[in-house]
Amino acid sequence: MRPRDLSDHAVYEAGRGIEEVARELGFEPGELVKLSSNENPLGPSPRAVEAIREAAPSVNTYPKADHADLIARLADRHGVEPEQVWLASGGDGALDYLHRALLEPGDGVLVPDPGFAYYPMSARFHHGTVSPYALSREDDFAQTAEGILEDYDGERVVHVTSPHNPTGSEMSGEEVEALAEATDGETLVLVDEAYVEFSDDPGKVDLVRERDDVAVLRTFSKVYGLAGLRLGYILVPEAWGDAYARVNTPFAVNKPALRAGIAALDDDEHLERTVETARWSRSYMHEHLDAPTWPSGGNFVLADVDDGGAVFEACKERGVIVRDTSSFGLPDCVRITAGTREGTRRAVEVMNEVTGERR
Ligand SMILES: *Cc1c(COP(=O)(O)O)cnc(C)c1O
Repeated sequence: MRPRDLSDHAVYEAGRGIEEVARELGFEPGELVKLSSNENPLGPSPRAVEAIREAAPSVNTYPKADHADLIARLADRHGVEPEQVWLASGGDGALDYLHRALLEPGDGVLVPDPGFAYYPMSARFHHGTVSPYALSREDDFAQTAEGILEDYDGERVVHVTSPHNPTGSEMSGEEVEALAEATDGETLVLVDEAYVEFSDDPGKVDLVRERDDVAVLRTFSKVYGLAGLRLGYILVPEAWGDAYARVNTPFAVNKPALRAGIAALDDDEHLERTVETARWSRSYMHEHLDAPTWPSGGNFVLADVDDGGAVFEACKERGVIVRDTSSFGLPDCVRITAGTREGTRRAVEVMNEVTGERR
């Protein structure tokens, strides 16, 4: 007795957890600067923490009303119908729902290379066929309709990430619209906006309102600091919003996550402080890292260090954990999450020591 043939399925390589690395190196977790998973270095919104506490005594009941409440809040905020808000356990869970709703076995899914590993994983779980489109390093990973269309061959879903993980590059609303316009009527362009709050770009939700072939992904894991709760969503075109009820897990999101999500949406102060800190950190890294970096719209910076694996190891020995981007298809780079002021200064110092010694 065996599972189905999973030989095509890659294993997701998450950034290493702080406890795991601390134990291995004999550090206290507090002595490590962990900048490998684009988490919020300021922690969750205090209001969200309070909401989780308040939800605890009622987790014996299913969270039906809480789903409706958060969906209503998000629909209102984005100017869409409630059916268009597909809540899920993380943005990753929302990708699963989207593929489940769209893909017939063998349907094509076009993904960026380099790019986020969960797009092809999720597509394959749902019996899709994956092909890549290249983001060219020579063009600083520029994202244009023309560039993506070179590799487009009628796929059912085209994944776009803006700001792009791990490069930080962005795709303008005009380019996304041109892409949606040029692809087949039955092709959906999914714009993953996991990092949009850190960018000057307002995002592409207006295209979801105006068209029937663009969807947008958002998450509470990054700017809202709720990665550990697993809360995200996709805004889908109005025409098929009702498909959610046919593909979702009953009670897709847990009650503390739903309550925390609502509370986090009310905490503008935490959001503003998070964005301000990330922007400061991003500029500090661009300015002070000796390794070349690319401009970034996200809460992270990609640095060219020749050997990402070796630099990751050497930084780790000194208590700074960055992300080796080999699993994204960029083995000569590391991605460094925007930290606190203290964490960022320390990371830059250690990175410069390490890259200096390697020269
Ligand atoms: C972090 C991230 C997500 C969503 O993560 P979840 O924690 O599952 O919400 C989606 N796309 C990209 C590119 C990301 O970096």
